[in-house]
Amino acid sequence: MSKKDYNVEVIDLNNDKSKKGRKKKINGPSSKKKGDKKINVEKVDIKKKKNNNKKRNRRDEDFVNDIEPNISNKSRNVQFAVVMYFFLALFIALCIYFCYFLVFKSDDFINSPYNARLEKLAENIIRGDIVDKNGVVLASSSSDNVRSYPYSNMYAHAIGYDSNGMSGVELDGNFYMLRSHAFFLERIKNDLMNVKNKGDTVVTTLDHNLQEVAYDNMEYDGAVVAIEPKTGKILVMTAKPDFNPNTISDNYKKLSQGETSVLLNRATQGLYAPGSTFKILTALEYLQENPNAAQSTFDCKGKLTVDNYTIRCYHGEVHGHQTFMEAFGNSCNIAFSEIGLGLNKNGFTQMCNQLLFNKKLPTRLSNTSTSQFKIDDSTKDTLMMQTAIGQGETLVTPIHMCMIASAICNDGKLMEPYMLDSVTNYKGINVKTFNSKTIDSILTQAQADQIEEYMRYVVTDGTATGLNGSNYTAYGKTGTAEFNDNKDEAHAWFVGYAKKDDKEIAIAVLQEKGGSGSKTAVPIAKAVFDKYFSEIDKSKE
Ligand SMILES: [Zn+2]
Repeated sequence: MSKKDYNVEVIDLNNDKSKKGRKKKINGPSSKKKGDKKINVEKVDIKKKKNNNKKRNRRDEDFVNDIEPNISNKSRNVQFAVVMYFFLALFIALCIYFCYFLVFKSDDFINSPYNARLEKLAENIIRGDIVDKNGVVLASSSSDNVRSYPYSNMYAHAIGYDSNGMSGVELDGNFYMLRSHAFFLERIKNDLMNVKNKGDTVVTTLDHNLQEVAYDNMEYDGAVVAIEPKTGKILVMTAKPDFNPNTISDNYKKLSQGETSVLLNRATQGLYAPGSTFKILTALEYLQENPNAAQSTFDCKGKLTVDNYTIRCYHGEVHGHQTFMEAFGNSCNIAFSEIGLGLNKNGFTQMCNQLLFNKKLPTRLSNTSTSQFKIDDSTKDTLMMQTAIGQGETLVTPIHMCMIASAICNDGKLMEPYMLDSVTNYKGINVKTFNSKTIDSILTQAQADQIEEYMRYVVTDGTATGLNGSNYTAYGKTGTAEFNDNKDEAHAWFVGYAKKDDKEIAIAVLQEKGGSGSKTAVPIAKAVFDKYFSEIDKSKE
């Protein structure tokens, strides 16, 4: 205030009339300067006038001291309000994020392999077991925490390993196996005696009986995935080449640098040309664009040449005159190349995107690759022909094809695939259950019903008759996918499902360089289906 001038109106304390609230100007020391800032104080009501100089001086002093707070009360109030509301908003935002983190993110964070606190937990606990849906132990730890995998290579990718960065269920269920819900008195006793508590058990959705059948029947590298369509539970997940997780620490460098990418889980991360299994998608789009598709007919002369590019039917077969359903059942490349040439490119892309191409697959698994489907307005005819029969630039993972089969089986509704079923304490008392989750209807029920008819025809009259005549009803599509210029080398595929009463199972089988899908992939699907339904029959006896 010393250098700032002021000009205020105050009550003239010397004037008798001030009683009625009259005002007088008091000028500051340099009030005559131009541009002085004027600060006005409105009415000041003083009820008593006193001529006592001492008192008057004191009152003047008090008044001047009061001026500063009063002058900007309003603007300061606004400032205070702004600051207060800012911090209040910040506080509320923090509370919301904290709740969100607690509910949705904390487990992810705690379960992260980068979380150093988990290592601390691991020091004080014997890592819990991993078991299949019936309690068959797939991984366990000794009292000095040496991990062992009784089925060694069979679950190399599905169960994974708990060292070298972890993988599979060992990674996804890590957090649960490092906590103990043993009886609390037992835990207290252990703590007092400095004995490690036994961690909780992760119960998977895997079915050891089916896994064994799938694994033993795989003659080639590749993958088998089976899912329960109504729940999304993964029953089987095998991949070859494999490795022994019991010795992973000693061999990790060699395994991770090898040319065969043995550590890669081909079921979820392997990207393959879908071959003729992709005709499921081409057929769905064709049916969508042509309500009278069932009446369409095609003439197959064994080969079709467009722009100097020739497509042939498998093994030089000539299918002759066929309906659309027959062409699907025969897996006729000529009919489907012709269909591909007439499809709406945007519509086809939309259909494939709806069926989960070009996006992260909705699963609860840590590592899945994204399937790829690429066509646009500029795509040439020759590529359209190849795309329609599952060649060209399209790439899929086996689990993705299994999810498509699963959704068709489940009236178009896709359930989120998952492998962690529940957590129990080491004595089998339930601690936590993971529920099924509906992702979306990726097809309408009408679409699912329609394509199911075609997939049934493949089993009764087409390329998958190996599945016919069982005591369950099977549906599917075979594939023989070329992946290089050597026409004799092709990947064998089968994608489909089987039903009996209210029990269903969907499957995708891929055998690298396995040749014909009918000969190499269908028998594996049959072995798994047979086992699945015989187990159910056995449990009913
Ligand atoms: Zn043909």
